[in-house]
Amino acid sequence: MTMADFPQPDITETSRPFWDGLKAGQLLVQRCENGHRWMPARDFCPQCLSARHEFVPASGRATLVSWVVYRTAFHDAFAGRLPYNVALVELEEGPRMMTNVLCEADALQPGMPLALAIGHEGELAVARFAPAGAAS
Ligand SMILES: [Zn+2]
Repeated sequence: MTMADFPQPDITETSRPFWDGLKAGQLLVQRCENGHRWMPARDFCPQCLSARHEFVPASGRATLVSWVVYRTAFHDAFAGRLPYNVALVELEEGPRMMTNVLCEADALQPGMPLALAIGHEGELAVARFAPAGAAS
């Protein structure tokens, strides 16, 4: 049995800067001319509908909002990773995103501080998070 390939995102002209940013080691969010920030990438600000926006670096600091722990693989690429979590995190800048937190399920706590930990799946760079550590 061969290992299935990691599922690839549908990278569009709109979202390409986000993926290129991760490849370069930065997590980027979009910010409109009125200062609203959001993700995932889209062509108009979800709050004021402005089409004037840019990608700006996020700090990489976030807090854990919620999560689920998968104990069944619904894609063959994840069969060797069980159990793993899929988490909703809130970036310090405000936007929320789906990701994985790199720790055991028992260590997950609502509101826990997290730090960006960019992972690599072949050519693809993905935004994951790790516990920020109580001392920092
Ligand atoms: Zn806006």
